[in-house]
Amino acid sequence: MDRRSWIENCARAAGAASIVGGLQLALPRRGWSAEAQPKENRDTKPLTITDIKTILTAPAKIRLVVVKVLTSEPGLHGVGCATFTQRARVVETAIDRYLRPFLVGKNALDIQDIFQSSYLSSYWRNGPVLNNAISGVDMALWDILGKRAGVPVYQLFGGRCRKAVDTYRHASGASFEEVADKVAALVAEGQRHVRVQMSVEGLATYGAGRQPGAPEDDRRPQVWDPKPYVLMVPKLFEHLRKKFGDKVELLHDVHERVPPILGVQLVKDLEQFRPFFVEDPFSPEDIGYFKHLRQQASTPIAMGELFNSPHEWLGLVSDRLIDFIRVHISQMGGLTMAKKMAAMCEFFSVRTAWHGPGDTSPVGHAANVHLDLAAPNFGIQEARVFTDAEREVFPGCPELKDGYLWANDQPGLGIDIDEKAAAKYPIQDDPPFDFRWGELRRADGTVTKP
Ligand code: MG
Repeated sequence: MDRRSWIENCARAAGAASIVGGLQLALPRRGWSAEAQPKENRDTKPLTITDIKTILTAPAKIRLVVVKVLTSEPGLHGVGCATFTQRARVVETAIDRYLRPFLVGKNALDIQDIFQSSYLSSYWRNGPVLNNAISGVDMALWDILGKRAGVPVYQLFGGRCRKAVDTYRHASGASFEEVADKVAALVAEGQRHVRVQMSVEGLATYGAGRQPGAPEDDRRPQVWDPKPYVLMVPKLFEHLRKKFGDKVELLHDVHERVPPILGVQLVKDLEQFRPFFVEDPFSPEDIGYFKHLRQQASTPIAMGELFNSPHEWLGLVSDRLIDFIRVHISQMGGLTMAKKMAAMCEFFSVRTAWHGPGDTSPVGHAANVHLDLAAPNFGIQEARVFTDAEREVFPGCPELKDGYLWANDQPGLGIDIDEKAAAKYPIQDDPPFDFRWGELRRADGTVTKP
């Protein structure tokens, strides 16, 4: 079919036409029509979504939500991460009761249209439940497209910019020496970047685990006071710089736990120790403080793991108030949204540092790796070592070697889920779904941000 016939065909299918640039172009009013396709070959022929499964599993004792999209081509399916571990069963409902009936029968190759129509499907949007549900489907569709084309997903994004993905891991402890020992161990394993966290005696401190001697099933309310913490962190950095010099990049996560003005003080105090970045110095509700922080210190800032919506990050990027965008990809709408976000950040020299904790499933980690390989403005990737049980449930986990994550170069995301193995690790409702963050309180009993 020539171009003119295709245009006429489109106009007939849509029942409406407009003149654009001298050409008569169709404006389809209601979805796509097979009639409107310019030609049919294996790559453009519709591939029907026949079923969507939501799989809940916890091989590392962390509740994961994984989506499997099945298609009309026998054996061709895709997987995606929809993990919102605190509300796993709500995401499961959003997929099974709402997205599945909305999407079964649609063309799995219409990734952009499925993203847009799903995003608008509930009118009220930008919430973590719907975003995670959309993300699970979206990643699975990219996985399917890669498998169908016979190439890794990073190839669909324009190809590799680098051989592998540089990463950071966590060193946490209850003393300067304990943190330093863990940094040394990670450096010996090949890490060039390490996130350092330390607890303050008598207080719960983010990322540093329980105090020495506390029982494993300690269920007492956790007490948190910001002042001793902001006084301690610069001393930890001073200790580590004396010990390691500049041989290792150091990172720190404030985890939005301090009043904004104390966050400003801490970031200023850390500047002299040259951190690779300081993460989440403010909560999403306090992002107005970033413009003040920028006037005070040149410490690189990473922000965004709690973001749900472009409204939250667009201004921070375009005003050059942060250095690393650090969203949780399944929280934002999946690969389709993350690709756009990375491209926008590139023009403002903001680098990517996608969230990569235990409550990102190995499928989500694989998605991160494909984005990291193809994004010119990749910065760093948070990584972890997968357990044997995770490897059993998710064949094809990305490999961590010498501090780099490597894709396995199989078509699609290169990872799958073994449903029989997943069933061996059912999710539990304990720890409870609020992770006891509602119990994190100041000494006077006031609830505090997590
Ligand atoms: Mg964080």
